[in-house]
Amino acid sequence: MIKAVKGFRDLLPHETPTWRRVEENARGLFEAYGYSELRVPVLEKTELFKRSLGDTSDIVEKEMYTFQDKGGENLTMRPEATASIARAYLEHALYHSDPVGKYYFFGPMFRHERPQAGRLRQFHQLDVEAFGTMSPSLDAEVISLLYSLYKHLEIAHLTTLEINSLGCRECRPIFRDLLVEFLNKVKEDLCPDCQRRIERNPLRVLDCKVKTCQRILEEAPTISQHLCPPCKEYQDMILIHLEDLDVPYIINSRLVRGLDYYTRTVFELTTSSSGAQNAVAAGGRYDDLLLQIGGKEIPGIGFAVGIERTLLLLHKGKSKNHCLPFHCYLAPLGPRALREGLKLAQKLRERGVRLEITHEEKSLKAQLRRASKLNVPLVLILGDEELKAGVVIAKNMKKGTQEPCPLDEERLLTYIKREEGP
Ligand code: ATP
Ligand code: MG
Repeated sequence: MIKAVKGFRDLLPHETPTWRRVEENARGLFEAYGYSELRVPVLEKTELFKRSLGDTSDIVEKEMYTFQDKGGENLTMRPEATASIARAYLEHALYHSDPVGKYYFFGPMFRHERPQAGRLRQFHQLDVEAFGTMSPSLDAEVISLLYSLYKHLEIAHLTTLEINSLGCRECRPIFRDLLVEFLNKVKEDLCPDCQRRIERNPLRVLDCKVKTCQRILEEAPTISQHLCPPCKEYQDMILIHLEDLDVPYIINSRLVRGLDYYTRTVFELTTSSSGAQNAVAAGGRYDDLLLQIGGKEIPGIGFAVGIERTLLLLHKGKSKNHCLPFHCYLAPLGPRALREGLKLAQKLRERGVRLEITHEEKSLKAQLRRASKLNVPLVLILGDEELKAGVVIAKNMKKGTQEPCPLDEERLLTYIKREEGP
């Protein structure tokens, strides 16, 4: 038997309603905040991610699905969307039509990681990106938009919003030197990955998940102590706005992100309830990214929501099942009734009625059993006698009562609406 590729998961029908609920809530909210949908392709030139994420990021070092196509071009299945959206924004010169570009995106991402709960090789993200504005109120608005999404989904209480600033071109190098000095002193005790990172990407050491490293790092200098005055002022202002907007947060001065393009603001929405994979969404400001990928000096900020991890949380929060139930069930008895029933079903469905019909020849008892299993409130029974009399028997499954109803689309529609109640 051929099975799915490792780390690539099927989404089964019982999961799609919750999935759609997340997606629909997000779309509504993002559009309310003035973001419009921009869709980017799955494949990009490998160079795009190398330049944006940085050669030393985990993604570029070991997680990308990269291959040469038949024409010998080096391509990568997108591991994240920010770089692609930034590329599209620059390529189509969207900044000409509006200096404030606000876009959202939804789609699959691909990373070759070790699959486990909440960690897949094809996973999905909802992305929000705002280009062209550098203002603490925008940062706060973007963060509060993320928080609002989880509030809408009724799981905000299961998450913690963590914020930090990574400084800018001025103050980050100074902090970096101090950090390297500290790390070299404790080098022997750090894990091999961290030892390697000291030279190549020391800030990433702060993000190490190894327990012994974390203990040692408690003594490390933090960037918040070394922010330059403009960066410090910028962050303070964000926090004021967040308080105005009633968004609860904590400052995590050790928070760094896995991608190299971030400047100043970074944030993560974490949860303690899904084990090791504790970030459900993350984002930050990237004022150098557009320049790095060969464009213009345009600032940006955004976030990515991990759908699968959010779904794990929703199941924890025991959120209601939002599967749409049927309005009625059509039970035809015999081939003639099936022909007529099929026509009637088509008409009612075109009018918005959610209706299920039996296609096999089944006894009335069997059909009623299935209707009751599907929890359908109303069953329309159609046999040869009903056809002759021009009626259909409407059976109310809850009350157990039944009555004939004229076999007429309009009359039936009124009847179904009335049975359904307000
Ligand atoms: P992690 O530290 O868990 O590897 P990350 O820093 O690599 O996360 P980002 O690149 O910031 O994650 O992606 C944003 C969000 O996308 C994450 O918070 C998470 O919810 C989701 N995500 C990232 N990688 C995966 C994956 N392999 N499987 C499922 N979801 C993922
Ligand atoms: Mg990762």
